[in-house]
Amino acid sequence: MGRLKVKTPIEAPSLEAALELLERLPVPMFVKARDGRYLGVNAAWEELFGVKRERFLGKLVRELYPQNPEIAEKHALKDRELWAHPGSQTYDIPIITPDGRRRETVYYKSTFPPGPDPTGLIGAIFDVTARRRAETALRESEERFRAVVDSANEGMLVYDRRLLIVSANRAAERILRLPASELIGKPGFTSLLPCIGENGAPLGPDERPTRVAVHAGQPQTDRVIGIRRTEGGPSGSVTWVSVNTTFLRRMDETEHYGLVSTITDITAQHDAEARLRESEARFRNTFELAGSGMAHIGMDRRFIRVNRRLCEILGYPEAELLQLTGRQISHPDDLDVINEQRPRLYSGEIDSVRLEKRYLKKDGSVVWVRFTMTVERDAQGRPLYEIGVYDDITAQRDAEAALRAAHEELKRSNAELEQFAYVASHDLQEPLRMVASYTQLLSRRYDSKLDKDAREFMAYIVDGATRMKQLIEDLLAYSRVGIKGADFKPVAASDALRRALFNLRAGIEEAGAAVTHDPLPALPADEVQLAQLLQNLIGNALKFRSASVPRIHVGVLDKEHEWEFEVRDNGIGIEPQYYERIFMVFQRLHNKGEYPGTGIGLAICKKVVERHGGRIRVESRPAQGPRQGSSFYFTLPKGKGNASKGE
Ligand code: ADP
Repeated sequence: MGRLKVKTPIEAPSLEAALELLERLPVPMFVKARDGRYLGVNAAWEELFGVKRERFLGKLVRELYPQNPEIAEKHALKDRELWAHPGSQTYDIPIITPDGRRRETVYYKSTFPPGPDPTGLIGAIFDVTARRRAETALRESEERFRAVVDSANEGMLVYDRRLLIVSANRAAERILRLPASELIGKPGFTSLLPCIGENGAPLGPDERPTRVAVHAGQPQTDRVIGIRRTEGGPSGSVTWVSVNTTFLRRMDETEHYGLVSTITDITAQHDAEARLRESEARFRNTFELAGSGMAHIGMDRRFIRVNRRLCEILGYPEAELLQLTGRQISHPDDLDVINEQRPRLYSGEIDSVRLEKRYLKKDGSVVWVRFTMTVERDAQGRPLYEIGVYDDITAQRDAEAALRAAHEELKRSNAELEQFAYVASHDLQEPLRMVASYTQLLSRRYDSKLDKDAREFMAYIVDGATRMKQLIEDLLAYSRVGIKGADFKPVAASDALRRALFNLRAGIEEAGAAVTHDPLPALPADEVQLAQLLQNLIGNALKFRSASVPRIHVGVLDKEHEWEFEVRDNGIGIEPQYYERIFMVFQRLHNKGEYPGTGIGLAICKKVVERHGGRIRVESRPAQGPRQGSSFYFTLPKGKGNASKGE
């Protein structure tokens, strides 16, 4: 390293010492005279410009930048300023070294000696290229970062250690509806806006996410806060945000220097959730209060959800029912009745299962349930769970069973009664015959020995026995109607009528009666009974005739599934209050003196008709006049596919 060669007029000893010092500094330095000529440079200068001092001393600055006179001019300008105002000077200037490298530099210059009349200046050059590049890189990176932060959908607030906002991005401004300028310097947005917690209560200062984070010493995630809107829009509307807060720390430092909160607008989601919660609550109420038992059943057949009524029906507390499957509490005889239907339900062949089955209650008793089930599916049609509705029909079932039992009992006791009547009347005939025949024997053999009174008494006995014989025969006929089997063959009603009229021919002739009839159909029936039915009705019409000549008509009406027959007469008629009574056994309206009979004819008619599945009734016009008389109507079913009319 050579010594700085300094010419006059600087005083040698002190200058020498200073220059010696400068030579050793790693900072490029130079000394210029008042006329701008270089008096000295150090080694660092030589290195920066790549110029040896021997070749440059005594030259002017413009000779340092032959290619870039504008740089030289700027230095010269600065020199002139300095000479005009002696002292020191600093300026930035990009320079080009002779090898063409561009350097960012800062020049420090100072005049000497101190005072208003300087004779030279000394300068130092700081190469700040690297620092400037770093600064630019940092600025660009910050700008990029800022752009990213500003384009984010999430609001971001940066806080300093005192928890005051130091920066806010655009999304934060948008979500909070406050400009960054109003946010910065404030202790968080919750201090500026009316905020509430998820429960709707106002948010206290200690509940601010930043304070909570600092207090807890750890980041806070998903804090939900509502901001009550007072401006515009529907009053009382709330912007719901989710806030995440975390600490800002420098590398290798445990203490944080600030916090950052990200804010996400979740109003839409929050409102949708609230609506869902409401509808679920509504559904839950309906489910709970339903009069029927209800359950959601999982794919593993376990009860997922059950209502109060189902617990009552099945006799289990809810908690226990939720541990069970329907199968576990099914009656052993009804184990698989639902399983048998499930494949068709799942395949979509049917959209619900309906059946009646038994369950065993917790106390072991049996409950009959009417069960309806559908399956709930997701958007893709995959089954999610089953919905079951259960109605307790035990009482109804019991009533039905009781009714069936009573009906069976009635049938049995009726059959028994018929059997009894048959046996009784049959067995009565024999002793009666004895009474009658011995009485007759008595009157034949001892007639001459008997006085008038005895003969009269004998006549009463014979009369009584005869009547009793008639009663017994009628009773026997009545009880026979039910005993015979119900295997009906097609019968022409006209044949039955012919048979009845044949049996009645004497009475018809005697009364001079006119019997007419409609064309009569064929129908499934017991021919003998049908003949008896017609005979009894026509016989009554003859018997209960009025003063006029009897006119009797047998009509028939086609009533779709049955025939309605009518036996109409112009006889004495019947008072309406007796319409029911006359069809009962031994019920008659006249004494035997007036009209003979036992009162069993119509009871037999009713029994025959009912045995054929029909009904019988009477309508009558008892008042005197041209329309006087009775009509006995009875229906008989047509049977399958037999609707032809005969004759
Ligand atoms: P009976 O003919 O043996 O008296 P029924 O059972 O045949 O018994 O009839 C019951 C009663 O109904 C009769 O006593 C009579 O009073 C009344 N009755 C039946 N048929 C007629 C009719 N065609 N006209 C008026 N009354 C009748």
